[in-house]
Amino acid sequence: MPIKPFQAESKHLLDLMIHSIYTHKEIFLRELISNASDAIDKLYYKTLSEENTGLNRDDFAIRIVPDKENRKLTISDNGCGMTREELETNLGTIAKSGSLDFKNEFEKKPDIEIIGQFGVGFYSAFMVSDHVAAVSRAFGGDETFRWESHGAEGYTVEPCEKRETCGTDIIIDLKPDTEDEKYGEYLDAYTLRSLIKKYSDYIRYPIRMNVEKSRLKEGSKDEYESYTEEETLNSMVPLWRKNKNEITKEQYHQFYKDKFMDYEDPARVIHMYTEGVATFHALMYLPARAPYDFYTKEYEKGLQLYSNGVLIMDKCADLLPDYFSFVRGLVDSQDLSLNISREMLQHDRRLTVIAGRVEKKIQSELESMLKNEREDYEKFFRNFGLQLKYGVYQDFGAHKDALKDLLLFHTSAGEKYSTLAEYVARMKEDQKYIYYACGETVQKVELLPQTEAVKDHGYEILYLTDPIDEFAVRVLEKYQDKEFKSVSADDLDLETEEEKQEAAKKVEENKDMLAFLKDALNGKVKAVVLSNKLKTHPVCLTTSGAISMEMEKVLNSLPN
Ligand code: ADP
Ligand code: MG
Repeated sequence: MPIKPFQAESKHLLDLMIHSIYTHKEIFLRELISNASDAIDKLYYKTLSEENTGLNRDDFAIRIVPDKENRKLTISDNGCGMTREELETNLGTIAKSGSLDFKNEFEKKPDIEIIGQFGVGFYSAFMVSDHVAAVSRAFGGDETFRWESHGAEGYTVEPCEKRETCGTDIIIDLKPDTEDEKYGEYLDAYTLRSLIKKYSDYIRYPIRMNVEKSRLKEGSKDEYESYTEEETLNSMVPLWRKNKNEITKEQYHQFYKDKFMDYEDPARVIHMYTEGVATFHALMYLPARAPYDFYTKEYEKGLQLYSNGVLIMDKCADLLPDYFSFVRGLVDSQDLSLNISREMLQHDRRLTVIAGRVEKKIQSELESMLKNEREDYEKFFRNFGLQLKYGVYQDFGAHKDALKDLLLFHTSAGEKYSTLAEYVARMKEDQKYIYYACGETVQKVELLPQTEAVKDHGYEILYLTDPIDEFAVRVLEKYQDKEFKSVSADDLDLETEEEKQEAAKKVEENKDMLAFLKDALNGKVKAVVLSNKLKTHPVCLTTSGAISMEMEKVLNSLPN
């Protein structure tokens, strides 16, 4: 049997493939299972359209057979199979995708979701194997052929023993050193199960495997016997594609805990489906508390990204703005431009559209929570409010309008958190500004001498106790046309004309004393002035200009 070389510079291409397209070896399994699913989809399409195949949806399955002794792994499907010619063109030509042709052939296909398009996935098997075989019988055909290759040299195709049904077995001889760092040996049931759960859980046909189990021997109390049982390893129907009214709260919560490794129920579930420029499903959660590493550099934001039920990316950062980095969840969309390894996305307008929709949805969910479930929102804000305040400050205030109504502050009005809208609604008729005072804790701010005059006028004060607060407030500048003003500002504008004149007179009278004090403090202060802000305190420290004392502290603490 002469060996046929691969078509089209395939030798180089195959080398490239094996060594550089994929970053993780383990995805070979994802690719072969995706091909099996595509092959079944194609045959299933036939059953739906013209031909009477005598097959039912329930007849279709993908089988995984690990053979430890011979280090062989077989992935079988009962899909459309391949003729001799198809084996040659589809597997003998790198970058030739029969699946893409299939997709292009039909304008609109009901209920099938072909995954393949690049024509390279199959060769990922060579990352873990030096010898790959495909035994295939095409639907409607009577013969079975065996395609076989040892890699870059080429491949052979010859007739072989007939398969019982149409479909394909991909048989790979695993190289001796193909342990996965994270999951272990690709022949272990545990490894296979984990990889299938991770990448192929939502393949729409059952992926089955015989699993060794043990049980007590009948009639015995301590003697065990082993037996094998066929198990379906994937869950098939993605929860997020079901209708909201078909899903219970418990199911939503269990899914969250299993998938995102949390032991607590989430604080809120956000489930959305959008059609249009980008059609996608999203299932997102607000965690009940911040993950232990949330405020560290190690925390990675992002949503999982699925395309046609196959996991493409575990943490797609582009889908979440930084200020919503606490959201966990996933997006599933069919129409994304994936790159060839399907590990990444091309910069895609649709992804930007999806990210925009996701962001709006999170924002409106938070707004509704604030309005209707105040207690829950306050708890959420205690966990993640800092992130929202950073969001106001970030990008020179570009997102401030979206976020300003989600902020909560302590105020001089009492124990309760207040929104800016609530503060403004309480403002007195003659009150011009939204006053704020900064300090480490509410108790400390309350004692600040500078707050006295403002409180004396009966005006409420926002208490800013996070270092970021004042930065955020300064970026906001105004809320509902009311300017923010620090109680430490020089121009609080609280006095009447008379009082102002009185004050000017006093300054004149005490000129010498003030100069003496300044000299005595010997360069430690910029100026000593009279103040009418103080009521019960004799003296206070204050700053002038753009940077407040609190901000100075923050800026000084930043690394250079
Ligand atoms: P892609 O899936 O992106 O098209 P692959 O390299 O994974 O590329 O596969 C190449 C082609 O080989 C597929 O498009 C399909 O036509 C064919 N093929 C691969 N595996 C199977 C299979 N199990 N059954 C039928 N056809 C297959
Ligand atoms: Mg493929």
